[in-house]
Parts: sequence; structure tokens; C-alpha cells
Amino acid sequence: MAYDLIVIGGGPAGYVAAIRASQLGKKVACVEADRAGGTCLNWGCIPTKALLKNAEVYHLLTSKAAEFGLKFDNLSYDWSTVIGRSRKVSERLAGGIEFLFKKNKVDYVRGLGSVEGTGKVGVIATDGSRQLLEAKDILIATGCKSRGLPTLPFNGKSVIGSKEAMVLPQQPKEMLIIGAGAIGVEFAYIYNAFGTKVTLVEMAPRILPVEDDEVGDALEKSLIKQGIRCLTNTKITAMKDHGSHVELTVEGPKENGVLSAEVCIVAIGIQPNGEVEVAQGDVPAATDLAAGHRHRQVAVRRFVRPRRAGAQQHRQQHRQRQGQRQGPALPPPQPGRAGKPARGRTAWIRHGRALIWSASV
Ligand SMILES: Cc1cc2nc3c(=O)[nH]c(=O)nc-3n(C[C@H](O)[C@H](O)[C@H](O)COP(=O)(O)OP(=O)(O)OC[C@H]3O[C@@H](n4cnc5c(N)ncnc54)[C@H](O)[C@@H]3O)c2cc1C
Repeated sequence: MAYDLIVIGGGPAGYVAAIRASQLGKKVACVEADRAGGTCLNWGCIPTKALLKNAEVYHLLTSKAAEFGLKFDNLSYDWSTVIGRSRKVSERLAGGIEFLFKKNKVDYVRGLGSVEGTGKVGVIATDGSRQLLEAKDILIATGCKSRGLPTLPFNGKSVIGSKEAMVLPQQPKEMLIIGAGAIGVEFAYIYNAFGTKVTLVEMAPRILPVEDDEVGDALEKSLIKQGIRCLTNTKITAMKDHGSHVELTVEGPKENGVLSAEVCIVAIGIQPNGEVEVAQGDVPAATDLAAGHRHRQVAVRRFVRPRRAGAQQHRQQHRQRQGQRQGPALPPPQPGRAGKPARGRTAWIRHGRALIWSASV
């Protein structure tokens, strides 16, 4: 069956686009390799918030019970139930998105998608079976994964990313976390609340370096009070994974020497999922950020927003205001190497009628 639109990736970007396009009368399929809801519902925002709630409740009971007039004999917890509750919350919400697909008549296709040619999407299901779908337009919304360190590669046990940190079968006694952004700080709070000795290592002068200074400063004080070691302004000069434990040699105002723990979470950022294969040959050129932004607007307008009277005038006014705020316009896009986004950029590639997006890194 030929679709108007095939969306590859069922995360918040993909499922919203698929459902909205279907509501606007398009025949839509959404191809998802894992579970509807993407990182956010399955391995990001939602399961971490469920774990944070668990940690908050336990922290409250262990540190403030007496203040609230509560008494417990041998207060304890079951780690597998803590993890299990977070997985159940994710399951329920992912099921909710699958229900929305059904309700909005989006065909939900489970499997790994690849662009096989203009308007052609190949899908390999988990049982190895293959199918070829066709569409007038393809939207790639395949999201991101944890960025690793070349000198300390992920191994799923002693060196892990956020996904593994959410489902560790055993709670470690000690943990190192490289990077004190939102994800690093969330895991520091969760594990520390349950008694793991946590050390956060951050090269910037404060934790949450991309937030307002006041926020980072206030949170750092609170985390230190709770027992988390926050080594800000700290450089890692050497790192070694011994399998049973990880060693980091650090230089900074609070610590100079070797830190060691059974588990190290690398939380230095994200990188695009690069698994979407695009058939070679008719990929004309990679475009730069400015052109990518324009393509995104095209996609959003075409699939998501119905055209409104006066919309063009509104866009012109918006561009003028943007120009006044941002100064001279960006230079026109230069052709680049297809499929190889430069680091630190959002890359969009025109591929026949496929629109390809590698998220910003
Ligand atoms: C630990 C953590 C905590 C976070 N907490 C928050 C938070 O509190 N608030 C917040 O706003 N954001 C949070 N985020 C960020 C948020 O998860 C992302 O911004 C969001 O998920 C991006 O949505 P997306 O649709 O672009 O990509 P994703 O959600 O990553 O979805 C992409 C989907 O594409 C699928 N896919 C990839 N390749 C293929 C393929 N070839 N074929 C088929 N399917 C494919 C993947 O399986 C995935 O389901 C968090 C992220 C992490 C990792």
C-alpha cells in the first residue's frame, strides 16, 4: 500500500508528526525499531522521573521521618521493585501512544527502517522478515543515544550510559558520573538517595552548566548537603576501565588523584542515532544548519500545520523580526558530504522526497 507519509522513528518528534498528519487526512505509517514513545517515554524523561519519585520518597522517609512524626522499624527497599515500577510506568505510557496510533488510524510498523530509494522505506522486523513500504514523503525522526568517550567505551556493565543506568540489576556501592548536566545530576540524586556513594565530575565551573548560574549553585549546595561529591572545575587526565571497576585520574580544586568505583555513568551528552541507512546514489548533498532549519519549516508546514490565510505575511513579519534580533542573514548553504553531519550541528539532507534529520549533537 502506498502512503502519503512514512515517519521513521516513533519518539515525541515522530509520533506527533504521524498522528497530526493523519488527523489532517494523510495516509500515514510510523516505523519504530523499539517501542512507540521513543527515548522520552521508554528510556528518558518518563522512567527517570519515576525513579526520581522513588528516590524522593525514600530520601524523605530516611532523612525527615521523625520531623513528620513517622517511625519505622528497619525501613528498607527492594531494588528490583524500584526499577520495575519505573519500567511499568514506561510500558503504560508507550501503550498509550500505540492506542493513539490506532485511534488516529496511523499504521504502526515495528522494525528497523531504512530509506531504500526515493519514496521507499525498507523495514526489518525483529524476526528477520522484511517488507518494503512506499510513500510520497518520508520523515526521519530517529532521535539520539548517549554519547560515549573514545577512551572509555561503553560496555554495559562498568561503563554505562543513561539507558543502562535505568535498569542496573544490582545497585552499586560506589558510582562515578562524568558530566553534571541534567542527566548526570538526576542519576546522582537517584543513586545517592538509595545509599550509593556518588561522585560527580564536571569540567565546567558549576553543575548544570547550561542552566542559569543561580540554579547550578543552589542545586550544588543541596546535592552536597545530601552527601554527593560534586567535583566541578575538574579535569579528567586519564581513565581506565578494569572491568570490575573504573579509575579516573582527576585534577581540580577539590580533588587531585585517582577516583575509583564499580560503575561509571558517562553523561556527557547525546549523539544522533546513525542507523538509518540511505541508499547511495541519488543523495544530492548535505545542507547546513540554515538550510536545515528551512527544511524543517517546510516539513512542519506540510505535515503538521494547515495553511492559514495570512500565514505567509505572518512568516515574513516573523523573519523580519528575527533578522532585526539576529543581525545579518546566514550565508547560503554549502554542499556537504551526504550523511556526515559536522559535529555540533543539526544536519538535514534532501534525499529525493525524503527529508532526513540528524538531531543536533
Ligand atoms: C535519561 C534522559 C532523560 C531525559 N529527560 C528529559 C526530560 O525530563 N524532559 C525533556 O524534555 N527531555 C528529556 N530527555 C530528552 C528527550 O528524551 C528527547 O529530547 C526526546 O526523546 C527526543 O525525541 P525524538 O522523537 O527526537 O527522539 P527519540 O525519543 O529518541 O525517538 C526516536 C525513535 O526512533 C527510533 N529509531 C531510531 N532509528 C530507527 C530506525 N532506523 N528505524 C525505526 N525506528 C528507529 C528509536 O527506537 C526511537 O524510538 C531525556 C533524555 C534522556 C536520555
